[in-house]
Parts: sequence; structure tokens; C-alpha cells
Amino acid sequence: MSKSTPLPEGLEFQTIEIQSNSGEAQIAKVAFKKWSEKECNTRALKKTSKIVGTILACSLIGLFVHILLVVIIPAVFITIVGSFPLYLKFKNESSTVYYAQGSCPSCHFNGKLKPYLDSKLNEEMTLQCSSCGQTMKAILKS
Ligand SMILES: [Zn+2]
Repeated sequence: MSKSTPLPEGLEFQTIEIQSNSGEAQIAKVAFKKWSEKECNTRALKKTSKIVGTILACSLIGLFVHILLVVIIPAVFITIVGSFPLYLKFKNESSTVYYAQGSCPSCHFNGKLKPYLDSKLNEEMTLQCSSCGQTMKAILKS
């Protein structure tokens, strides 16, 4: 997720417990947005078409460099076949985590911790410190 991503309106907050590698735990807050079914669909379509579009656009280079076609034709095929499970994965993201407000167990930077790799709201998530880059485990508290 890029830094320029604007935060949507209606963010909800929930308490999480951040666990450092050394086993220390601390309480923080996570900001997330719940999507309606319609929003899930639109978002999934957008995200999937962006990825597929990028790969297809890159493969256009192959039209000029013919030796690359051997690599590109299977890549395009895999992309098109793979786009459906990708779409389902995105569609399944009913709540997206935008950031967690807390302090990093490694460098004690106090601010926004970003979701790492997967931004879906889960019982257990991985966050990354935007200051030192350290990842940490976060558990959702009910
Ligand atoms: Zn840090």
C-alpha cells in the first residue's frame, strides 16, 4: 500500500495486542474499514484488473523483443488463469486494516504501524514499523 492512499471515511477502531520478538506484549489500537458486499466486489475487481493490466502491459514489450515471447506467452496465460483466485482472495477481504496506532517494540517509535503483506483484518496479523521496518505480531482483542 502506498503512502498516498487516502484514508476512507468511517474507520473503526479495535484494541490489539502487539507482541515483540522477545515476547513483550503491549496494547495498541488498529484502524480498519468494514466493506459492504458491493464495495468488496468493486474493490476486488479494481485490484485484480490493476495487477492483470500491469502484467499484460509489461508483456507488450515482448511484441518488440521476440525472444521474450517464449517467457511472456506462459506468463500471460498464468496471469489470466490466476486472476480468478486473486479476485476471490480480494473479494474475501471484508475489512481492511489501514494502520495501527501504537509504539514499535524494537525502536520505540510511536506512531502508525502498517499492515505487512496482508491488509485483511484477521485474528492474528503482522504489522510493520514504518520507522525501523521491523515486523511484529498483533492479536485482535475482543
Ligand atoms: Zn520500529
